[in-house]
This record gives sequence, C-alpha cells and structure tokens, in this order.
Amino acid sequence: MSSPNKKKNLFVAKSLPGSPRPSRDEAEAAVNTLLRWAGDDPLREGLRDTPARVARAFEDWFSGYAEDPESYLARTFEEVDGYDDMIVLKDIRFESHCEHHLAPIIGRAHIGYLPNNKVVGISKLARVVEAFARRLQVQEKMNAQIAQCIDTVLQPKGVAVVIEATHQCMTTRGVHKTGVSMVTSTMHGEFRKNPLTRREFLSVIGNPQSSFDN
Ligand SMILES: [Zn+2]
Repeated sequence: MSSPNKKKNLFVAKSLPGSPRPSRDEAEAAVNTLLRWAGDDPLREGLRDTPARVARAFEDWFSGYAEDPESYLARTFEEVDGYDDMIVLKDIRFESHCEHHLAPIIGRAHIGYLPNNKVVGISKLARVVEAFARRLQVQEKMNAQIAQCIDTVLQPKGVAVVIEATHQCMTTRGVHKTGVSMVTSTMHGEFRKNPLTRREFLSVIGNPQSSFDN
C-alpha cells in the first residue's frame, strides 16, 4: 500500500487499484493481437515495428495522466494594477481521444475568467487544456474538468470554458457524419449569473451562439 494521498487530486491516476500498470512488452503484445484481429500479419515488414510505435504514440497521446494540471496554475501574479476585467484565451487547439473508441477528438478550447486579484500566465491555461486533453476523454467531462480546475485554484469571480471539437468516432465510423462539430460549455460564477458577462465572452470568442443565452 502506498501512503495516503497528500492532497486530494481526482486527476492523477498513474496506476489504479486492482489494475497495476502493464509492462511495455504487454502493451506491445496487445497491439499485436489487435493487428491480427483486424486481419493482418504482424510479422510482415511494414507492421513489424508497429506495436512498438503504437506504444510510443500512447505515451505521447496519454501523457496527461502523469501531469497535475492544478500545479500549472499555482504561480499567479497579483500586481495587475487593479485589472479586474475579463481575461480570455481563445482558440487553444487540442488533440484528445474519446474514451469510447480511442478515436481522436480534434478541437479548440476557449477560456475566459474574471480574476479575483490573481491572474495566471496565459500559457498556463493552455497547459491545463493539454493535461486534460492527453487522456481518454468525453468532451463534456473535459470541459467540466478544465473549468473546475481553474475555479478551484484561481478562485476567480467567474470562469467560462467553451469547447468545439470533431469526433473521429463519428466522422470515420458509425454514422459517418463529416463536418459536424460538437460545442460544449461550462459557465461558473458571473458567467452563469450575468447574461451580459456571458454574452461579452461569447462575442470575444467569435461564437455568440444563442443557445448559450438561455
Ligand atoms: Zn467515440
């Protein structure tokens, strides 16, 4: 048994109870099985290194499990000369994978917050998005996690997160609908309470969808 967690952190899960992390060899063997199941011969030249490549790709695509997004927001700046207006970072491109099919989710996140004396370096918001995107995801969950993380650490007067993304499990399989993107949003604090604040944010991100105005 490892020592109890120093602080509660819902997002860092390197090894889950009851399922210790498999070895690299086991991961490669699993890819080999999938290749054979797809109907190909893993011993042919073009596929010989594929299990190793896929394992390395997984290390990249799912590197977010080893990251603690809250830590990116720990360093804040308080000398902002009374700036207390909305701060928006828009068009943060991300690549994620859906937890139902392991298919890519490609999209953009837009984040706005109303600081409560504390502001954070803008690149840090992008790193928070990355840390959550590089995990198996559901768009709605990722949207909520990003907003919750900012809310918990920065304790702003309000936070808004809008994500637009295409899901390749929808465009390349199943219903095969291309050109469809899914839009989700989470609004906390002033963004939820105040329609003017919400509208200002939506107009800054260039996506003033009336569906958010209810
Ligand atoms: Zn899916």
